[in-house]
Amino acid sequence: MSAGVVIIGAGHAGGAVAAALRQSGYADPITLIGEEPVAPYQRPPLSKAWLKGEAQQADLLLRPDSFYTEKSIGLRTGIRVASIDRAGRTVWLADGESVPYEHLVIATGSRLRKLDVPGIDTPGVLELRTLADAERIRAALRPGIRLAIVGGGYIGLEVAASARSFGAEVVVIERESRLLARVASPELSAFFERCHRDHGVAIELGASVSGFESRDGQVCAVRLADGRSLPCEVAVVGIGAQAQDGLAAQAGLSCRDGIVVDELCRTSDPSIHAIGDCTQRPLPRYGASMRLESVPNALEQARQAAADVCGKPAVKSDVPWFWSDQYDVRLQIVGLPRDVASKVVRGDPSAGKFCVFHLDADGVLQALEAVNSPGEFAAARQWVGARQLIDSTRAADTRLMPKQIIEVPA
Ligand code: FAD
Repeated sequence: MSAGVVIIGAGHAGGAVAAALRQSGYADPITLIGEEPVAPYQRPPLSKAWLKGEAQQADLLLRPDSFYTEKSIGLRTGIRVASIDRAGRTVWLADGESVPYEHLVIATGSRLRKLDVPGIDTPGVLELRTLADAERIRAALRPGIRLAIVGGGYIGLEVAASARSFGAEVVVIERESRLLARVASPELSAFFERCHRDHGVAIELGASVSGFESRDGQVCAVRLADGRSLPCEVAVVGIGAQAQDGLAAQAGLSCRDGIVVDELCRTSDPSIHAIGDCTQRPLPRYGASMRLESVPNALEQARQAAADVCGKPAVKSDVPWFWSDQYDVRLQIVGLPRDVASKVVRGDPSAGKFCVFHLDADGVLQALEAVNSPGEFAAARQWVGARQLIDSTRAADTRLMPKQIIEVPA
């Protein structure tokens, strides 16, 4: 009998590819190996509904535990894969056991970037990647507690919004001159800054953290490079993530800020696929390759890898998209703002409902940021992929329904 597929990493992508393989008719053994002690679960609610106490652990699971038994998927949790022996088509587990494979799928995700400052290991200085991390944060949140969040990216801002719902006193410390500086337009940064300030969050921009101070073995302040100390009882550090591609690199697979894969998710070894946050993947719409950290990317690559392993027709790449929820704001982004020559704002940011169209020099839609504007987002998912020309005046005209923006006037 074939040794089947071994999947390293039982996260969103790993769980999805196991299911997709069975859906595609794969009949040989599937072994899904994960370091965390739980079955594959969704991370997005960890900073949103789950952190606010609006979801239970069972709601996070991608599929109930019974699914893996019913589908004969050998789920092994709480065990790390220590190395890959490509010549012997075997993975070695941290406890010395070996597991043979015919096909290997690497879905090891990403790991948090470490802030290298004195006091980073002080109790009360937390981070958020896993359910265990989220449990620590939730246990610490209570009305009036002073929470310092280092990093004004999506995760930091989502934690800020959730913590405010507990009545925590929150300060967000961001090194750049605006929030979401690496991932959003200045228009969006300004909107979220106002939104968080309106909800009582203090924001320190252009502020560099130089260390954490402690009292009685517990964090008591964040020290800034300008000499100030911001008192806190808890700190959450969220300054971005890096590809977890060490195993692949050790095994000699091509890696460049992530495991390099093609559109079928094949690595430089034809019997090894890689999917999810750990990959450096092609984006045909932009003629570029990138690392994407999103659920839609993990699910798409899971479908692509499963189809390829099963010899099914290739699954085409969609345009990248992403979402974030903060307070009553749903942000949806489609596309990448590459080669942007002009931007058009549609709607009124002060009313909490607007979009930013990113157009190239020919007027082709490259990306759209949509705040509480699902109609525009849905339309733009097609337009970005189709390289739709957008008339700036019509885009800005909110009397037109989203679909009417591209109608040619008679
Ligand atoms: P992961 O889900 O991280 O899974 C990788 C798994 O591999 C982990 O469980 C890890 O322990 C395991 N692993 C790693 N190395 C080994 C090894 N050697 N042996 C065994 N197991 C190993 N995306 C969105 O699109 N929208 C959102 O709103 C959003 N919110 C988020 C909020 C939070 C708090 C976080 C942390 C992420 C969020 N994301 C969001 C990102 C999204 O969750 C990730 O893009 C997605 O989880 C990627 O899936 P993955 O399977 O590639 O990685």
